[in-house]
Amino acid sequence: MRLEGIHHITAITGDAPRNVDFYARILGLRLVKKTVNQDDPSVYHLFYADEDGSPGADLTFFEYPGAHVGRAGQGMVHTVAWRVADTAALDFWEQRLAAEETATERTDAGLGFADPEGLRHELLVADVPDAPLIADHPEVPREVAIQGFDAVRAYNARPERSVDLLTDVLGFRPLPDEPDAYEARGSARGGTYAYDPPPADRGLQGAGTVHHVAWSAGLDEIDAWQERVAEAGGRPTPVIDRFYFRSVYFREPSGVLFELATRGPGFAVDEDPERLGESVALPPFLEHRREEIERTLTPLPSPRSRD
Ligand code: ZN
Repeated sequence: MRLEGIHHITAITGDAPRNVDFYARILGLRLVKKTVNQDDPSVYHLFYADEDGSPGADLTFFEYPGAHVGRAGQGMVHTVAWRVADTAALDFWEQRLAAEETATERTDAGLGFADPEGLRHELLVADVPDAPLIADHPEVPREVAIQGFDAVRAYNARPERSVDLLTDVLGFRPLPDEPDAYEARGSARGGTYAYDPPPADRGLQGAGTVHHVAWSAGLDEIDAWQERVAEAGGRPTPVIDRFYFRSVYFREPSGVLFELATRGPGFAVDEDPERLGESVALPPFLEHRREEIERTLTPLPSPRSRD
C-alpha cells in the first residue's frame, strides 16, 4: 500500500471568473468540474486538470467571492510545482505568460510565476517515468503543455517534527539529493513534498493560498490508510464520501492540512466525459437544492461551451 504522489491540490480564490480565465485559457488546463463546496454549497468548487480529469493533475479552488488576498506562512503550502517536457516548454511559457502580463522568473530547473491572486507556481523539467497528464488547448501544443504535478513546497520551521508521520506512517521516502524533501511514489506515479524555512510574517489563509494537498490512494485502501493514520495519533477524520473520490483529512505536524483521496470513481461519474465542467454538477444529496444553489453562484464563462 503506497501513496502515488499528489492527487489534487485545493486553493482559494476570491474571483472565480478571473480564476477560470487564468487556469483554463492561459495555462490551458481543462475545467473538468464546476461544482460547489460540499460543506458550503453557496460557493463554487472548481476543478482544473488534464483532459481526463486525472488524479495527479487536479488543481481545485474554493471560491469565496471577494476574499482578501492571503499569504503563505508557517504550516502552509507556498508553491505548486508542475512538470513540463523540456526547456523549450519553459521558453514557451515564459513568452505566453509575458504576453498576458504575468511576471516570470527563470529558476535553476524551471520557471516561476504567480496566479492573479498570488498563488505561486513553478514549471519544472522533470525526469520521471510517469505518464504525462495533458489537457487539449488550441493555443498550447502538446509538446509544451503542462504535464501534471511534480511537487508542493511548504513552509516549516521544524521539519524534524514531521518526519515520522511522513516516512513511517505515510511511506514517503527522503530524497537523497535534497534536504527536507520527500517523495510519495507508488507503482504508477510519484510526487514530492518539500519544506522551506518560513518567512518572518505569519501566514494568512485567503485568496491565492493553498487550503490543502491531497495524496493519491487506491480506491480499496482508504479505510486502511485512515486506520493507519489514526493508530499513529494523526487524528484523521472518518472516511468522507466526496462523490468523485473518498477522502480522509488530517493536519501533519507543521500545520499543513493533508487529505488522502482515492483514485476513482472520478469526474465522469455524473457527466459525459466530453462535456465535463460545462454545467454545475451537484452531488446527489444537494440535487434537490439546485435551483437555490444556482441562483447564488457567480456566473462563469464555460471555456469549452459548444452551445
Ligand atoms: Zn481535497
